Amino acid sequence: MKVIIIGSGLAGPVLALALKQRNISCKIFEARDKAAFEGGFVALAPNALRALDRVGVYDRISNQGWNYEEFQFVSSRNLGRIATILNGSQNKYGYRALRISRGVVRQTLLEVLREQQIDIQYGSKCVKIEETDHSTVVATFADGHTEEADILIGTDGIHSRVRNYIDASAIPTFSGQMGVGGSLPKMKLGPEANTVYMPCMVLGKLNSFAFMPCDYNGTRIGCFATIESQERTREEWNKLQSDKDTLQAYMRSHHEHERWPEIVHRASENVDKDTLTLWPYYSVPKLESWSSASGHVVVIGDAAHAMPPHGGQGSAMAFEDALTLADTLSRIMDDRTTTKDGASASESEFESDLDLPHALRPWQTARQARIEKILAFTARSGDTRKASASTLRQIFKEWAMWAYFLWVGEDAGLSWIYHYDTNAETFGKS
Ligand SMILES: Cc1cc2nc3c(=O)[nH]c(=O)nc-3n(C[C@H](O)[C@H](O)[C@H](O)COP(=O)(O)OP(=O)(O)OC[C@H]3O[C@@H](n4cnc5c(N)ncnc54)[C@H](O)[C@@H]3O)c2cc1C
Repeated sequence: MKVIIIGSGLAGPVLALALKQRNISCKIFEARDKAAFEGGFVALAPNALRALDRVGVYDRISNQGWNYEEFQFVSSRNLGRIATILNGSQNKYGYRALRISRGVVRQTLLEVLREQQIDIQYGSKCVKIEETDHSTVVATFADGHTEEADILIGTDGIHSRVRNYIDASAIPTFSGQMGVGGSLPKMKLGPEANTVYMPCMVLGKLNSFAFMPCDYNGTRIGCFATIESQERTREEWNKLQSDKDTLQAYMRSHHEHERWPEIVHRASENVDKDTLTLWPYYSVPKLESWSSASGHVVVIGDAAHAMPPHGGQGSAMAFEDALTLADTLSRIMDDRTTTKDGASASESEFESDLDLPHALRPWQTARQARIEKILAFTARSGDTRKASASTLRQIFKEWAMWAYFLWVGEDAGLSWIYHYDTNAETFGKS
């Protein structure tokens, strides 16, 4: 089975490593240059880290970011604690949570790909996909070259070309909000930095502002604001991404209309401008299918189901998709190369009895069900950050959150997300 993967963000490399572990060879094509560096930080929950452990990457990154268990919500009125939740736990989940640079995660993945001699071709933007009458897929790249494979998997992110081939009507929709984040030395946050527990989210009347240590020693703090925004074209978003002065102006504008603690002002004044990155919140409408009618073209990760940021599960879902798809393809291979009496199937048998859509269906159904549940949780989590009409309402919201988290307990009802183990998935098979 020849597999090609389009996109080497976070899902593509994990998929390639998982396929290699299952003796399925693949090649990755990436639109960007080799030197392109990913900006921003990710908070990786235990389920994301368990998946990275499976492909031999966790140990390499765990000491390159901030390991933590508790996350606090605090009030913008007085920095008082509203609630504490467990985002990770060595005892409970086997992993603490990890706040780390996206660039470090991706570069480490690429390093492991190199060591495992998995082929990756940079500067290769996929512009066209066609299926042949002999059950293969041909990808055409912007430079005119083509590549033929049995299966093409799109891990090409939210504005996916591969998804467009599967379902051209699934256009990402903009939420009206964007995240602007950066980092700075902790000492530049002033005295409050020594008394406020971090990581935390300061919940204001109108919106929120997060502080998250982002290096191993906690000397560097990432800060992140969610800001209302109009929609832009891809070119305009890219332009804004590189315009650090405007990004900083946006971060300052976040707290123009209400009173915020001094630490929030210091963060947006002193943030290192070159670390500022932008994350416009888009989501992808639910796809009828994650694969083409033939099953030879498949999408996973943000390409299949990009989600709002409030649950911190975007990359975790991309990793889980990758591992479970690799398992599914491996099972398909095993089923097809073994005849009833255990002998190897011939090449023609191999071709004729392939019913990929049918074989992929249980995997997709299970993944979609989990994604739906995560999306519902993410939406609830986003509601806690919606604007309150008055200070009284803000106080009421804080009280309601306090009572809710007291009721659900320290795991905040998140253990079904964090305990998830791709190895335990059977997709209908015992
Ligand atoms: C600033 C920021 C902060 C985030 N924070 C968090 C967080 O805290 N927790 C969390 O879980 N998630 C977070 N996310 C989301 C998370 O990064 C994504 O969910 C994850 O990267 C999805 O991985 P992916 O591989 O599907 O897509 P991507 O990582 O977007 O990768 C897509 C890749 O495909 C390539 N590509 C695109 N089109 C083509 C083409 N036509 N041909 C070839 N290659 C192509 C792109 O260049 C890119 O390398 C954050 C995202 C951003 C931007």
